[in-house]
Amino acid sequence: MRHGSTSFSHSGRGRIPIPGDGRMRAVRRETTMISPDLLEILRCPHCVREKEGMLKLVKDSWLVCQEPDCGRKYPIRDDIPIMLIEEGDKWVGVAERDLPIPPPGD
Ligand SMILES: [Zn+2]
Repeated sequence: MRHGSTSFSHSGRGRIPIPGDGRMRAVRRETTMISPDLLEILRCPHCVREKEGMLKLVKDSWLVCQEPDCGRKYPIRDDIPIMLIEEGDKWVGVAERDLPIPPPGD
């Protein structure tokens, strides 16, 4: 009996770590929207330590944390998501439909 004739690779797709300081820089600016691939790896920096911290793209300008007890919203400025907890904190009390488009600058 031989083994190894059928080998399934289950190494699969690992999670791509996000740089810890939260501020991501787009290297190129060929697209004007956050790609699904990028959205998939972005997480709420507050929630990701303990939970999934999945984000939802709102109006192509905001990333809204999907954790029910979070509510942080992260602005996307010049196609760069500002993934800072202190930034998300500012918008906890603002409803999705009331978010300014485009997000205000500093
Ligand atoms: Zn969160």
